Amino acid sequence: MYQALQKIIDNSSRIVFFGGAGVSTESGIPDFRSVDGLYNQKFDVPPEVILSHTYFMEHTAEFFRFYREKMLALWAKPNAAHRKLAELEAAGRLAAVVTQNVDGLHQAAGSRNVFELHGSVHRNYCRNCGKAYPVQKIAESADVPRCDCGGVIKPDVVLYEEPLDNDVMSGAVRAIANADTLIVSGTSLTVYPAAGLLRYFGGDHLVLINRDETPADQYADLVIHGKAGEVLDTIRV
Ligand code: NAD
Repeated sequence: MYQALQKIIDNSSRIVFFGGAGVSTESGIPDFRSVDGLYNQKFDVPPEVILSHTYFMEHTAEFFRFYREKMLALWAKPNAAHRKLAELEAAGRLAAVVTQNVDGLHQAAGSRNVFELHGSVHRNYCRNCGKAYPVQKIAESADVPRCDCGGVIKPDVVLYEEPLDNDVMSGAVRAIANADTLIVSGTSLTVYPAAGLLRYFGGDHLVLINRDETPADQYADLVIHGKAGEVLDTIRV
């Protein structure tokens, strides 16, 4: 199976990687939908409600309590999956990473062309004056993080009910449409519109590397049910 993957990689020059929360579980960040994921832990209010625009506006302090505890993982380091993708890009084989993750670990590993569909915890802006703040400002605030002007600082993370950034979305569509191989990994493919991006792929090989089955397994040329880091680590660049 890994030989089939290596063969596809060897014959590709415009690989695009489309990933989700499962790419970072080997870095210690829980995903949403696995058994040990965030959605299966018990909260008074479900995570998908807390991470919504309405909840952010109406229960800002509670939002930040959850966000700081469960979404900020500033201690996390890139794993073998992030590192191999950066290596493939540096070697001129991989054109782009399209990710649903907000943790910034692809960039930390050295990836440069990264489309962050759902934003990043590392960018934060005052809702009032637009001033930018580093993530430390959010991490170190005891309560609601506030700008010098008094405005609430909001992470540049796409919450439920919020639209995706147009430029990021169209860049991701272009990258996927131009790819000769699309590797999909670490995503349950249940969050839209992100999951719908797969339909723009018209290249030669669709590869799926995921721990559990996904709705796209049936369309893939190669399906590997395994851990993203372990599988990608076997690739020779
Ligand atoms: P998801 O939680 O819905 O699904 C994760 C998928 O990854 C599952 O199918 C699981 O089987 C698989 N998986 C888990 N560990 C894996 C591994 N080591 N190797 C391969 N596959 C593995 O995640 P999603 O589809 O990305 O959707 C969740 C949403 O939550 C996204 O929008 C994302 O923005 C957000 N999120 C981000 C982070 C992060 O930035 N690290 C973490 C949690 C959630």
